[in-house]
Amino acid sequence: MAEKTALIIGAGPAGLTAAYELLENTSVRPIVLEATSEIGGIARTVDYKGNRIDIGGHRFFSKSDRVMDWWLRFLPLQRLEDGQADLALSYRGARRDLAAPGEGPDPDETDLVMLVRNRLSRIFFLRRFFDYPISLNLNTMANLGPVRLARIGASLARIRLAPIRPERSLEDFLINRFGRELYLTFFKDYTEKVWGVPCDRISPEWGAQRIKGLSLTRAVWHAARRLVRRDGSIAQKSVETSLIDRFLYPKFGPGQLWEHVAGQIRQRGGEIRMGQTVERLFTDGRRITAVGVRDAAGQEGRVTADWFLSSMPVQDLVRGLDAGVPAEVREVAEGLMYRDFITVGLLLRGLRVVAGGRSGPSGPPGLIPDNWIYIQERDVRVGRLQVFNNWSPYMVADPRTCWLGLEYFCQIGDDLWSLSDGPFADFAADELAKIGIIDRRDVLDAVVIRQPKTYPAYFGSYDRFDVVRRFLDGFENLFLIGRNGMHRYNNQDHSILTAMAAVENIRDGRGRKDNIWDVNVEQEYHEERDGRKS
Ligand SMILES: Cc1cc2nc3c(=O)[nH]c(=O)nc-3n(C[C@H](O)[C@H](O)[C@H](O)COP(=O)(O)OP(=O)(O)OC[C@H]3O[C@@H](n4cnc5c(N)ncnc54)[C@H](O)[C@@H]3O)c2cc1C
Repeated sequence: MAEKTALIIGAGPAGLTAAYELLENTSVRPIVLEATSEIGGIARTVDYKGNRIDIGGHRFFSKSDRVMDWWLRFLPLQRLEDGQADLALSYRGARRDLAAPGEGPDPDETDLVMLVRNRLSRIFFLRRFFDYPISLNLNTMANLGPVRLARIGASLARIRLAPIRPERSLEDFLINRFGRELYLTFFKDYTEKVWGVPCDRISPEWGAQRIKGLSLTRAVWHAARRLVRRDGSIAQKSVETSLIDRFLYPKFGPGQLWEHVAGQIRQRGGEIRMGQTVERLFTDGRRITAVGVRDAAGQEGRVTADWFLSSMPVQDLVRGLDAGVPAEVREVAEGLMYRDFITVGLLLRGLRVVAGGRSGPSGPPGLIPDNWIYIQERDVRVGRLQVFNNWSPYMVADPRTCWLGLEYFCQIGDDLWSLSDGPFADFAADELAKIGIIDRRDVLDAVVIRQPKTYPAYFGSYDRFDVVRRFLDGFENLFLIGRNGMHRYNNQDHSILTAMAAVENIRDGRGRKDNIWDVNVEQEYHEERDGRKS
């Protein structure tokens, strides 16, 4: 019998998982076609002169044991010291106990290892650090000052008496819950920075879906409970030891894991062809028969297969279909919107010492303890700042330097995207100097990395996305997987689970796709509580 093949579009987490799982669980041979020259998609790690940088830091944690075990199969958990092992990983309410002390590889000696990292992220606003998620503690109150606090209280009282009805936009939604002053202070600018759309043009359902976990009542309750717990030392101890937010992270960043998976796929007989952009899909009735590809030199080719798994953006997929696409499907696919992303890697002698900073012989001066910081300041465009030293010390070539990632949310063709790399790096460094985080003279080197379509947007024609989904699901041998592949805000774990579900369907001869779309329907989980991205 002729060997069966599955063609997989994209060598990101979804595509690579699909290829690996096909090799593990079926006799179908996977062929992965990847447009770029890099493995890992948005979860790749770029190596710039020995300094490694992610496209946004990627935490590894999942509520799914299957995903956690899958990751640890490739990169075993690092050895933990006595006293560390009673700590648990915690993430959005999910909890996992760590392995016993003394087991596992030592990251100083082994490269294939998953680190356990503490998480700290804060908000930088008014040239000060605020807790994240924002909580009503003394630090917040002192930072805001009495005048702002009074305004916040008054606006909250006002909105409780006369809420905006009906809620027509995300702006109305947020003001009704937090009052106008808090909305203006902590939500408006950041949301607009990330999405590039004013909050009054985003639907209120978007807020209901993504911000439902956060309420002021809950924040006050948390703050009060903390105060009470501080008196009882046992309770306080348990908070400190078990609820420290931790996550897993490969020694050399997420790209290390995906490159390792790619190596395993090749070793087992799977193929990964780089520099192959899928531009067309050929159909015969309700089946896909082949894809048309173009390589980096512009040569065109055609690849046939029995099954097709796609993690390429849905919009591009519909554009590439050769025939029979209803006008409405084309219209909705064209109306899908995305947010693009630029990150600037900045190598520094140190940071200007800011709150919580530390200096010492082993690290760069002023290194702050955060993994990342939300930059809320209104006079700069940078949205988030990663401190890669704190993701993994092995990401930095010289531990005496500080290796930052400055993140800009933008749109291909806008003023940020149009700026060429050199001027962009200067602009980014100037911004950090302006808000007092660095001294411009400490900049040693910089690199600019652009990533189109990082965020599939839940506005544009998204409210009619079902039309596209139904049409594409109708192709019995086509499976949409991953983030842009399904136009869904999927993290790595969801992308992995969608690929696993597609492979199970192929293995079991199932044409239905519902189990794939069922992944990540629990909206609360896949986002931070206040709607900020992860
Ligand atoms: C800033 C940021 C931070 C994030 N943080 C986290 C985090 O902390 N934890 C977490 O788990 N997840 C995080 N994610 C999400 C994570 O990056 C995605 O879930 C994951 O990368 C999606 O995998 P994918 O394979 O579906 O898509 P992608 O990673 O986008 O991979 C798709 C691949 O397909 C290729 N491709 C596209 N079109 C074609 C074509 N026509 N032909 C051939 N190849 C094509 C692309 O080049 C790419 O390599 C984050 C994302 C962002 C943007």
